[in-house]
Amino acid sequence: MEIAYDLVDKENPFDYNQAMMDIGATLCTPKNPSCDTCPLRDICQGQENPTLYPTKKKRVVPTREQNIMLCVYNDKISMTQRSGKFLHGLWGFEEIDVPLCAAEYIGEVTHAYTHFKLICKVYVYDALDKEQEHYFSTQEIRKLAISKVDDKILNLFLDTIHTY
Ligand code: SF4
Repeated sequence: MEIAYDLVDKENPFDYNQAMMDIGATLCTPKNPSCDTCPLRDICQGQENPTLYPTKKKRVVPTREQNIMLCVYNDKISMTQRSGKFLHGLWGFEEIDVPLCAAEYIGEVTHAYTHFKLICKVYVYDALDKEQEHYFSTQEIRKLAISKVDDKILNLFLDTIHTY
């Protein structure tokens, strides 16, 4: 950092910064640096030791976990229309804090969003009564506006019942 500051042309910092960016964009490319034509070749240590090249930091994406319960009644699954910011307006399966004892775990699905990775642990519960407001057959769910992750959950459910 100190070395970089010492090198800056204090009279023309804009030109200096622009020149460094141009070198980075045109000459000092990570895979094939053009050291022979680079104006920094006499002072640069990177050409002798490529491990000194700055490398891009790998972005660490946080992971979120959810429990999802498919509440099945009369061969239909309960769904709710999301009203929160996340996936607003789309129909989705019910998120629960703790799965019911009677619910059967059928597996998990993962989905990568820009800012986080979502892992959904999926449970199926055969309800004896109509406990929720909206129930749909799997064919009807295919016609609803649902998120990619709920589509994956539906596929997991269909794969599971086909293996019975
Ligand atoms: S001399 Fe240094 S700054 Fe110039 S291209 Fe080679 S490694 Fe990059």
